[in-house]
Formats: sequence, C-alpha cells, structure tokens
Amino acid sequence: MNAWRDLAIGGYFGGKNPWLFYHELLTSSLAKIIGANMEEITVTNTLTVNLHLMLMSFYKPTKDRYKILMEAGAFPSDQYAVETILKHFGLDPADALIEISPLGDEKLLHTDSIIATIAENANSIALVLLGGMNYYTGQFYNLEKITQAAHAIGAIAGFDLAHVVGNIPIELHQWKVDFAVWCSYKYLNAGPGAVGGIYVHEKWAGNIDTPRLGGWWGNDEKTRFKMEKGFIAKPNASGWNISTTPVFNMIGLKASLEIFDEAGILAIRKKSIHLTSYLEYLLHQLPQLSFEIITPNAVEERGAQLSLYFKENGRAIHDKMLENGIIVDYREPGVIRVAPAPLYCSFMDVYQFYVTLKEHF
Ligand SMILES: *Cc1c(COP(=O)(O)O)cnc(C)c1O
Repeated sequence: MNAWRDLAIGGYFGGKNPWLFYHELLTSSLAKIIGANMEEITVTNTLTVNLHLMLMSFYKPTKDRYKILMEAGAFPSDQYAVETILKHFGLDPADALIEISPLGDEKLLHTDSIIATIAENANSIALVLLGGMNYYTGQFYNLEKITQAAHAIGAIAGFDLAHVVGNIPIELHQWKVDFAVWCSYKYLNAGPGAVGGIYVHEKWAGNIDTPRLGGWWGNDEKTRFKMEKGFIAKPNASGWNISTTPVFNMIGLKASLEIFDEAGILAIRKKSIHLTSYLEYLLHQLPQLSFEIITPNAVEERGAQLSLYFKENGRAIHDKMLENGIIVDYREPGVIRVAPAPLYCSFMDVYQFYVTLKEHF
C-alpha cells in the first residue's frame, strides 16, 4: 500500500519488491515444496484457468492419439475443463475421455490398474491427467510411476496438485512430470481466490517454441514494453504468464510461503504424518460407530486428510462438529473429510475432535 501511494506506476520498476517481477519472489519457496527448478514454476491465474492453459499447450490430439485418461469422479472443475476442451477440438467426450474407476465396490484406485489402463490404450491416449490426490478419498497417487507409464506409451503426464502442494513434499522435476497446476488456498493458506501456480518441465519450459496461449506478461521483459509485433516467450515457465501480475493477491501467498520456508516442508510433513496417524489411532478406539475410513492407511498414500464414510447420519454429525467449532467438510454420500493441517492444527485439536465425535454419536 505504501509503495503504491509513494511510487504510483513507478512501483512496477522501483521500490523494495518491483511489481514487474513480483511473481518471481514466490518461486524459490515453491521450488522446495514441489521439487522443481525455479525456471519450471510460475505463479499466475487460478487453478482451472491454468489447467486450460496447460491443455492448450500439451493436449495435441491426432486422428489416432486423442484420448485423455482421468479419474472417474474427478473434481468437477477439472471434468468441465476437459469436457469443454475436447468439444473445442471437435471431439466427443463419450469417445475421447477414458475415466478410470476403482475395481468392483472398492473406493480406491490401484496404481497397477491405472498403469494397466494406460498400457491397454497405448495407441490412443494422448494425455494422462490425474489429480495428484483424490479430493474425496484423500488417496495420494504414485506420480512417478504414472508418469513413467504415460511416457512409455508416448503420452504426456499432467497433474492437478490442488490437494498435494503444501501437504506432501514431491519431486516433480526428478519424476519428469510434464506439467502440473495447483491452487494456493488449500494447504498453502494464501486465502480465498489466491493466485495459483503452474509447473512445466524444463524440457518444455526452456523451449520458446512450445505452443501456448500468449500475452505480454509471458513475453521477454526486454521487448515487452517496445509494444512491437511478434510474441517472444520467456525461456521458462513464466512464458505462460499472460496478464499483469495481481500483486495484492500475491502478498498473501508470499506471507504464507515465508512460513513454509521457516518451518520447512519436510518438518511439516513429519508432523503431519504423526498428526494424521494419531487421528487414525483415536478413530480406531470407536469400534461401535458405523463409519469407515476410506483414505488409505499407508502413510505414503495419504497426506493430512482422512475421509470418513458414515453409512448414516453423516450430515448430522458434520453439523454437530461445526456447532462445536470444528471445521470439517461434508460430501455426499456420507463422507466427512477431516484434515488436521499440520501448520496450525495441534495434537490437542485432534483429541478434541475425537472427544466431540464420541459425545455426539
Ligand atoms: C480446489 C480444486 C480446484 C479449484 O479450482 P479453481 O479454479 O481454483 O476454483 C480444482 N481442482 C481440484 C482438484 C481442486 O481440488
């Protein structure tokens, strides 16, 4: 606010954190959280917009290879993005979309069955697009193995990491993931509508000819203000930026990332594993209750979330929690998502949840 008052438009180039480069203040912290080079990360737009931008770059359907593999029941916005992109290319989602579901009446997807489905459609899949973590079950997928399977058939591997970034440390560069997108208002705590992020592997990000939808903020700064014809992308992920950086919006993210830097994602994860396991342990002390934990019990397949499936009264139990000041989330049919986020939830909070659940059942 002070820089804006004192410098006005001069704040783009002057002041402590010039706005022209403001998004770059966020990339080194994110690099540690997602396991990528700074050049592979940019912060811009919000998640679904970024998903569309990545689809425009990485989904290149041909006559034979045009299918997209997703999870059945993916987050609705992701489903809408894919459906509308397919229609944009004149394709019929009923034909071009492969939706993978858990086997039989299981709730979770096996990595092996994802890989088998990729192999079965080796000649037709152009893009494997999964949520890194299923928002409903809390299952975290093996991104490295899925990426390898996609690459083995000549397809692109992209992930929606809305529930992963800031929750589970990952190694996107090392795992050779092609692209990923995320929002900053879940585990990154940057506030409602916070600016989202894009990761593009350096083999694509470093190539200014990688196709994309362009705008002046993705153009080389050296020529941006010459106002000349001819888009020249920046040779890194910020070559996907389109419009002027929303500086006010980014301030919340910057403040949050400073806390991540101070704590360290590995320490956050360590506490998280204990916190979620403690929650699981307490829930197992309630055998008389008719609910099932549908999140995997292996720690490497989950983050700071347990999804509890109540055969009945799920909604009523959720409402009781809210009345008692415990924020949980309800999804039909009967699932309460409990997320002891390690940066601000304590072991006592988890215990209090257990006591409240026990009392009100
Ligand atoms: C939260 C979430 C979104 C939200 O997208 P916005 O465009 O930021 O509203 C999309 N996909 C998944 C998987 C999510 O969890």
